[in-house]
Amino acid sequence: MNAAQSPSPVWHPFTQHGLEQPFKRIVRTEGSSLIDEDGQRIFDGISSWWVITHGHRHPAIMAAIRDATENFDQVIFAEYSHEPAEALASGLIELAPPGLTHVFYSDSGSTAVEVAIKMALGYFHHRGERKARIIVMEHSYHGDTVGAMSVGERGVFNAPYQPLLFDVGRLPFPRPGQEQQTLDALEQLCRGGDVAAVLVEPLILGAGGMKLYAPSVLAEIAAIASRSGALLIADEVMTGWGRTGTLFACEQAGITPDILCTSKGLTGGALPLAATLSKPEIFEAHRSTDRSRTFFHSSSYAANPIACAAALANLDIWRQEPVKERIATLTSMQSEKLARFRNDPRFSEVRQIGTITALDLATQGTGYLSDVSPRLRRLFRERGLLIRPLGNVIYLMPPYCSSAEELNRAYAAIDECADLIRSTS
Ligand code: PLP
Repeated sequence: MNAAQSPSPVWHPFTQHGLEQPFKRIVRTEGSSLIDEDGQRIFDGISSWWVITHGHRHPAIMAAIRDATENFDQVIFAEYSHEPAEALASGLIELAPPGLTHVFYSDSGSTAVEVAIKMALGYFHHRGERKARIIVMEHSYHGDTVGAMSVGERGVFNAPYQPLLFDVGRLPFPRPGQEQQTLDALEQLCRGGDVAAVLVEPLILGAGGMKLYAPSVLAEIAAIASRSGALLIADEVMTGWGRTGTLFACEQAGITPDILCTSKGLTGGALPLAATLSKPEIFEAHRSTDRSRTFFHSSSYAANPIACAAALANLDIWRQEPVKERIATLTSMQSEKLARFRNDPRFSEVRQIGTITALDLATQGTGYLSDVSPRLRRLFRERGLLIRPLGNVIYLMPPYCSSAEELNRAYAAIDECADLIRSTS
């Protein structure tokens, strides 16, 4: 077998190499599309795993990256600093919910969450308080590093690693009508006095099935955490940058978490970067003349200047372009397209928050390992659409520049593929 015939050495994420169809090779990205080597334009209905906000290769972000490479590659971020990171931190503090004052950089959503957990535990440790328990919500997803898996839902994704995962308290998901049970469970768990942090995805659990809960519940969770002396960590890795209709989802509950994690849309999706924002007392608990209180965490690529420049360009786009209007337009186009599925018996539930819509296909075998999702993915792919259902949950989270025509195509395909799946189930 010569090199050209041998299988690729690439090991892809969340991919069963024994089963998958041949990979599509993408040669270019543009607006809301991926363009493959045969010249086919594929509508990126999930913003390439939720990172692309304004559209692929926004010219201002690309220009900022090109400019930054005139002066920078990577710069060590301990003991040294640079203007892109400083300007970005100031910009983030201005845009984030009020009261967050410090910005710690890392390089992915998972590391932003790891940092948040370590900050929370460090905060209590340095104050001499014995609080180290984390409370999370059922069905949550916070990433795939060991700490992030520990605070996420347990299941087939992390079964082999469970011996390594630490124990956390879990709240039942606040289904409509059952919110009080969640709040009571939180009160109960906090009574132990050992809770360091309550960690939540605000308003929508993403990878856990695009499940929604009300801003009033988030506000109650924040109040209980605060009363019991626990920190609230908001994982806005998916929800940030306008996805739910506001810049950050926490705004809709009128709360400022003690720690906020952001990544994905931070650079408009162009480069990997993450930030964990904290309130001043968390920073102050670490600041000392005592070296043992140092926040011992870094990623080699923390605060990469080129990624920071991309993020600064993203902030400028938010300030200068009608991003909110684009989000409002996409939100109303999504509502309009979703309307016809609302009483459709093929779907057990449809829902929307901001630019995100989800349709639960009423079908047998809905678990993650069922073949519903791969079959749907194949059908969508044949129709020039990147849509990756979570089990039986078909969702769209497209870039903000998506057109009505592209959404028409996506929803027509959802309609058609729902029939195809049912006729062959
Ligand atoms: N937190 C949330 C809410 C996410 O949705 C994700 C990724 O989808 C992560 C954390 C992990 O982010 P990353 O894949 O960049 O590590």
